[in-house]
Amino acid sequence: MTYQHIKMPESGTRISISNGKLVVPDQPILGFVEGDGIGPDITSASLRVWDAAVEKAYGGKRRVAWCELFMGEKAAGIYGGDYFPEETLAAIRDLKVAIKGPLTTPVGGGFRSLNVSLRQEMDLFACVRPVRYYQGVPSPLRRPEDVDVVIFRENTEDVYCGIEYESGSPENEKLARFLREEMGAEFFEGAALGIKPVSPFGSRRLVRKAIQYAVDHDRASVTLVHKGNIMKFTEGGFRNWGYELAKEEFRDQVVTEEELWEEHGGQAPEGKIVIKDRIADITFQLLQLRPAEFDVLATMNLNGDYLSDAVAAEVGGIGIAPGANISDEVAVFEATHGTAPKYANQNKVNPSSLMFSGVMMLEHIGWQEAADLINDAFVRVLAEKTVTYDFARLMDGAREVSTSGFADALIARME
Ligand code: NAP
Repeated sequence: MTYQHIKMPESGTRISISNGKLVVPDQPILGFVEGDGIGPDITSASLRVWDAAVEKAYGGKRRVAWCELFMGEKAAGIYGGDYFPEETLAAIRDLKVAIKGPLTTPVGGGFRSLNVSLRQEMDLFACVRPVRYYQGVPSPLRRPEDVDVVIFRENTEDVYCGIEYESGSPENEKLARFLREEMGAEFFEGAALGIKPVSPFGSRRLVRKAIQYAVDHDRASVTLVHKGNIMKFTEGGFRNWGYELAKEEFRDQVVTEEELWEEHGGQAPEGKIVIKDRIADITFQLLQLRPAEFDVLATMNLNGDYLSDAVAAEVGGIGIAPGANISDEVAVFEATHGTAPKYANQNKVNPSSLMFSGVMMLEHIGWQEAADLINDAFVRVLAEKTVTYDFARLMDGAREVSTSGFADALIARME
């Protein structure tokens, strides 16, 4: 494939897939999108941290060949006003792994969020958000060290997928008439209407990813989160299809919570992952009161959106929480916060959300040693209370540094 504006580095090799597994060369080409607003600040700081960790871990044997891809405002400047160039999508499909900074959603004109467009165009059906505590991070919890979960949020279905009919529109009136006259539904006059599609296919592929992650990473449980007590066919369907999938495809590796009590006296047999389910509202409560009871969570789209921000807030907030959107072939890692335009080009904000998304990316390609170096350095730097403004305002005796200063501190403390 030839590209118009994207320059593939000649020194690197593309990642490929064989038998469903990534084949990662020693010099893989990885894509990065700088992002808008604070994007350039956090991206340049993070690139330095990732490169330093890889160099330190592998002494030059391995190296990332970075390839800049363009989306958002920078793309609009290069591609004549196109914020979402087709060749960027083609390059992400080609490279299989990329990381992106936050992107502005230009207001007006029916412009869809670039992030939502990216997920839909590439069918990145699972949003993965690991949330864990790092010693020294300011937290409102008494025992934040109990928080260590990975949330798998379904990305393509649910009320979130945008099938909505505005109050008073002809489409709304047509649908309302059908629902009232043909289906016997009752609701107030002029109600705006939204559709909540939830399919066996969409639910099963999400739950499959969550359970496979639990298997690969020796996790103890997978909790299916839902409001199936109220929305029996959509949210309840998600729960039921999740259990079905677990028993059909992972029978030897899992035990359901029901089986746990009926057949194993409440003790999970050695090496088995417990599959359980919890109602969404109680999950929010328990994740604050008894977070140690949760490990991997599989959620639908809207529940997962709320839940991942709420859990992230327990251990440092969105300035630090990492994330990825993945399909069976492609993974796009991303900062979970937005472009924070008021801080653009001030070299001020916390680069950790993007930086830890890069740690996830290193783990995804199997470069665990480099990922560990960054995690360990972060703990050391925090112990010295060297932090960016967002943490400094929550800590006594902190030494506030800039975005690049924080990257310098991390690199200096990689041991
Ligand atoms: P935001 O950019 O996430 O910023 C909200 C606040 O969060 C900031 O004012 C700041 O808080 C804090 N914050 C965000 N990133 C931080 C960081 N790296 N370090 C420290 N603090 C950080 O949300 P927004 O202002 O609602 O959205 C702005 C733009 O971003 C919009 O165009 C929106 O569409 C876009 N957006 C993009 C993504 C994405 O690309 N994934 C996600 C969300 C929003 P303080 O003011 O308290 O310091």
